[in-house]
Amino acid sequence: MELKNVSKIYKLKDEEINALSDFSYKFEMGKMYGVKGHSGSGKSTLINILGLLEMPTKGTYIIDKRDVSKLNSKELADLRLNTIGFVFQDFYLDENMTALENVMLPLLVNKSLSFKEKEEKAQKLLMEVGLNSRIKHFPKELSGGECQRVAIARALANNPKIILADEPTGNLDEENEKIIFEQLKKLSKEGKCVIVVSHSDEINNYADEILKISKGKLVDKK
Ligand code: ADP
Ligand code: MG
Repeated sequence: MELKNVSKIYKLKDEEINALSDFSYKFEMGKMYGVKGHSGSGKSTLINILGLLEMPTKGTYIIDKRDVSKLNSKELADLRLNTIGFVFQDFYLDENMTALENVMLPLLVNKSLSFKEKEEKAQKLLMEVGLNSRIKHFPKELSGGECQRVAIARALANNPKIILADEPTGNLDEENEKIIFEQLKKLSKEGKCVIVVSHSDEINNYADEILKISKGKLVDKK
């Protein structure tokens, strides 16, 4: 994924907000990136653009060798479903579904797998995040850390090459934060590109690169 001079400008009534300005960076496969910056600095805007949830106002975004501005809405939706996995601070699990059903959700539209195969795949993903004994549990019967692991398993359902996590440990204690960072790190070691927004200094121990954002600009990378 490469951003070339990307800006995102929100136009309000009598104000323009430069949420991202002239942002250029190339993300590589097999690496874990940490994104840091004060509240309002543009971190979520960056994740939303990378995840095709929003379009740049200016500049070029290349994903999977394709220029995003040249894709139609179906191509964008396909890319979003099959190339990108999202993990959010609030998990966004369906409270009325078990862990297994939540992980199966992105697989339901997949016509090449039978229901049984979808179930087996979801089960395997939950096993990989260490939740094999919790597959029949509902979100309210799981701890925050467990919920986030379900969300990671769900993000992996369509075997995406890219994982985008926006403050995934914002609601978790230090111990669970380490578990989540470790799992995200493992995914990068398997070859995925993993991008994690985090306020926590713990991310420094996991990320291969740290990007620091201030007022929509990339100010530091190390
Ligand atoms: P962060 O995630 O680093 O806290 P954001 O990317 O959410 O920051 O926001 C960056 C700036 O853009 C903030 O000033 C925020 O208020 C503004 N912003 C974000 N989304 C919108 C929107 N949909 N409309 C208008 N302004 C927005
Ligand atoms: Mg944010």
